[in-house]
Amino acid sequence: MKLRKLAPAILALMLSVFPLALKADASPDWTTPFPPFHIAGNLYYVGSVDLASYLVVTPKGLILINSNLASSPPLIRKSVEALGFKWSDIKILLISHAHYDHCAGSAKILKETGAKYEVMDADVSVVESGGRTDFQYGSDGTTHYAPAHVDRVLHDGDTVSLGGVVLTAHLTAGHTRGTTTWTMDEREGGRTLHAVIVGSPNVNPGYKLVGNTVYPKIAADYKHEFAVLNALPCDIFLGAHGGYFDMKKKYAMFKNGDRNAFIDPSGYKAYIADRQQAFEAELASQSGR
Ligand SMILES: [Zn+2]
Repeated sequence: MKLRKLAPAILALMLSVFPLALKADASPDWTTPFPPFHIAGNLYYVGSVDLASYLVVTPKGLILINSNLASSPPLIRKSVEALGFKWSDIKILLISHAHYDHCAGSAKILKETGAKYEVMDADVSVVESGGRTDFQYGSDGTTHYAPAHVDRVLHDGDTVSLGGVVLTAHLTAGHTRGTTTWTMDEREGGRTLHAVIVGSPNVNPGYKLVGNTVYPKIAADYKHEFAVLNALPCDIFLGAHGGYFDMKKKYAMFKNGDRNAFIDPSGYKAYIADRQQAFEAELASQSGR
């Protein structure tokens, strides 16, 4: 009896002491290593099972997309080095969006490599405050991380270039104010393939789409995001989480010799349509329709 009465107090104490541990435990795929691999052209996968990181290799150095959790940099580094590249050759660090599962490791990576941090305008204050200005999670200390200085503020449609390789930053906001979808062209087997790294089309639990006083244009931003994503040409479908594009399944196909495993224009279209439908259903429900 006494124990039953004590249990809530113990749980509350554990929550106050180990909030991050509990969060990480909620998604073991975030911290489970995954073998690094070549996607196409100069693009490689260096993330975990579900937290995607991408390495773009150029003659003038490396571009890394997504630093992931505060604990992720050693995993990403191991993947980069296993592919035969040098950690200190990372010249530019980019992110999908300013949530701790994609950018908490940035401060460490910037310090270790001296890379320049290039972030979409509307996410800059969030990464520079370590998550404290996020419209949804700003006051939730369990989502905060080491602040990192942004060296270049990106705007919608800006390009990031290194050694002749060009990536384009598409503002696809809603999930965060500065959620960025990255596109680039890859040459593979004599073809040019359009790669799309989706920033996030997801409406998180608790997001207020109607009457959001902190982020009044959130619904309009999601609508704009879906217009942009629907219009992007896509051959190689990628995203901020492996789960967006069924990475584990495609990697198994790839390991079995299917060189086209990640070429999935119809999977991209189906995923965007599914996420748009989920957004519209949530908007309708919050609008009382
Ligand atoms: Zn997110």
